[in-house]
Amino acid sequence: MTDRYAVIGHPVAHSKSPQIHAVFAGLTLQDMRYEAILAPLGGFADAVRAFIASGGRGMNVTVPFKLEAYALAATRSPRAEAAKSVNTLIFSPAGIHGDNTDGLGLVADLRRNLGCDLAGRRILLLGAGGAARGVLLPLLEEKPATLTLANRTAAKALVLRDEFAPRAGSCVFTAVGFAELAGQQFDLVINATSASLADEAPPLPPGVYAPDSLAYDMVYGRETPFMTAARAQGAARQADGLGMLVEQAAESFYLWRGVRPDTAPVLALLRPA
Ligand code: NDP
Repeated sequence: MTDRYAVIGHPVAHSKSPQIHAVFAGLTLQDMRYEAILAPLGGFADAVRAFIASGGRGMNVTVPFKLEAYALAATRSPRAEAAKSVNTLIFSPAGIHGDNTDGLGLVADLRRNLGCDLAGRRILLLGAGGAARGVLLPLLEEKPATLTLANRTAAKALVLRDEFAPRAGSCVFTAVGFAELAGQQFDLVINATSASLADEAPPLPPGVYAPDSLAYDMVYGRETPFMTAARAQGAARQADGLGMLVEQAAESFYLWRGVRPDTAPVLALLRPA
């Protein structure tokens, strides 16, 4: 019987995951089907259980259900525990297992696709919501020289800093408001705020981009106000989050199928010419 997988969200029609996983399945010769499931708000757990009852083997979880997925999972990976959110569910007779591949996806995109080695670099991470929390541990594990967490509401960044400080190792890990970034320079600036969704850019003071720096927006599919502002402020390169999306999907696929698909063909397919 063909194994069934799905992405679950609200909304979900825009999701590129069915397209991505169909290509992965073809490339790796896996007998599987991947669909999109729209769950009603307040109906997440029931929708997951119905999918399991109909033979579902695993799910990707997207907005707004990642916290509910975390709560639903009976067991969780250490990185899901650190992120306090789950984007990948694995179903087995032992129960529901939760994982989070967003951070691995970001690091894989930076290293593999963008040639950006993070060890010893100065990283600025913007935002203190679910996306920022999800990538903090994988970023710290790359051993940057400094990691600065900046958020519009500085208090939220400080809470995250306190929580993750014991995992920082030799990295100088600080949390600030945007205004306090004046006079500092970074090799990599990652936008994990949702400002781009409102067509806005986080208000960064001039001078934060080092000469060879990369500006990375987790939002994908278009040039965002953050990317435009970064170019104007001297960032050498700008990238959107499409590669992160594809790489986190590849990690989920690996968790389900034990095979790591080549991501380059999918990226070429999804990237506008
Ligand atoms: P949350 O709602 O949890 O957090 C939003 C964050 O953005 C907060 O830190 C908030 O600051 C900040 N923010 C919102 N508006 C502005 C603004 N106008 N200026 C400055 N800061 C602002 O969202 P998530 O963390 O879940 O998601 C963030 C983004 O990451 C989304 O756009 C999402 O699409 C993207 N994402 C992409 C992925 C990928 O695979 N490419 C994976 C996961 C997420 P404050 O605390 O002050 O309110």
